[in-house]
Amino acid sequence: MRRNAQQNSAPSVALSGRVSVDLATISNNVRALRALTPAPHFMAVVKGNAYGHGLVEVAEAALAAGADWLGTAQLTEALALRRAGITAPVLSWLYLATASSEIIREAVENDVDMSLGSPAQLDVVAGIARTLGRPAAVHLELDSGLSRGGARVEDWPDLVAAARDAELEGTLTVRGIWTHLAWADVPAHPGNAAAVDAFGEAVRQAREGGLEPELRHVSSSANILDRPEFAFDMVRAGLAIYGLAPADHLDPADFGLRPALTVTAPVVLVKKVPAGTGVSYEHQAITHEARYLGLIPLGYADGIPKGISGRSIVQLGGRRVPVIGKVCMDQFMVDLGPEACGVSVGDTAVLFGDPDTGAASADEWGSAIGSHGDEIINRIAPRLPRAYECPDYQDPEVSVPHAV
Ligand SMILES: *Cc1c(COP(=O)(O)O)cnc(C)c1O
Repeated sequence: MRRNAQQNSAPSVALSGRVSVDLATISNNVRALRALTPAPHFMAVVKGNAYGHGLVEVAEAALAAGADWLGTAQLTEALALRRAGITAPVLSWLYLATASSEIIREAVENDVDMSLGSPAQLDVVAGIARTLGRPAAVHLELDSGLSRGGARVEDWPDLVAAARDAELEGTLTVRGIWTHLAWADVPAHPGNAAAVDAFGEAVRQAREGGLEPELRHVSSSANILDRPEFAFDMVRAGLAIYGLAPADHLDPADFGLRPALTVTAPVVLVKKVPAGTGVSYEHQAITHEARYLGLIPLGYADGIPKGISGRSIVQLGGRRVPVIGKVCMDQFMVDLGPEACGVSVGDTAVLFGDPDTGAASADEWGSAIGSHGDEIINRIAPRLPRAYECPDYQDPEVSVPHAV
């Protein structure tokens, strides 16, 4: 059931924006990616509240469409999936030295796989597993050049040896070995092949050291689309399952991927202003003739970037209109032109969504502010309710006004 996004509102009913997530699109994207990759296993990355789309809803849609692993950065996210009743394998890779032993214990008890990148991290997890009397499932991370998490090549043999000792003691099971590519967004960069070579060598050393990792995984979205030879046993797909471009040269539409998230807002006020009118703080925009302005009740507190000012990026009444003047905390203005062109209070402005509908994509917003679509979707504020649209989903009434 696709609900009509048109808000049927009287001027006194100030509704804020609406974030709708099309779960059928998430499922279609997962299916398209699964068909593209030779990897037998497919991890849907749902960190950061599933890139702002909703952790549990996206996880369920991705699993239903054929993903067989879920990936989170933080242990709290992984445990939230378990609390929601999701039993699929989950890997959480942001090891926090400051995490309480309580949360690590909960992760082991709830079959959350953890990534380890140093013998010190390994000791903590193995120690907790020892007290529980059961092994913790772990994936060893190689730092193949990102200099983020993971063990450097020269430290890898120590990590392998410590992991083997823990396996023999019954405190750890090494289920996977993985790395994340520094040049993931530039799949043709020679740094990728060098990192994958280092990864191959690390796997060889691990096997020689007695480990039997079932899952070798390297690729994130860009490499899934561009470098199928990096697929190994599993790929980790984030941006692509949300229909966003994982790299500048990769157009999601070319791979049958569509954005799942649409942000709309009602026009809450239309007014005519004379020539020479300053608009918004510090009058950074001044009308050169009489213009109609529309007020949109979303601002930087909702995740609308200030840098979007001046861009013709809002779809309203079948055309694109520019954001005029500074974006405020909860609202911004659009310039409707010398005539209102039929736009009236209650009409729906589409900020971004599926470019097939003529709306701007989150990627277009991203490039307009010198960034990428990932920054746009990830900053959409949690205070905006997400409405889920898919054939079998019972859509709750979510047109909840926020404080205005
Ligand atoms: C975020 C992340 C991914 C997914 O990356 P995308 O480019 O969004 O596909 C994969 N692996 C790790 C370790 C990540 O942090």
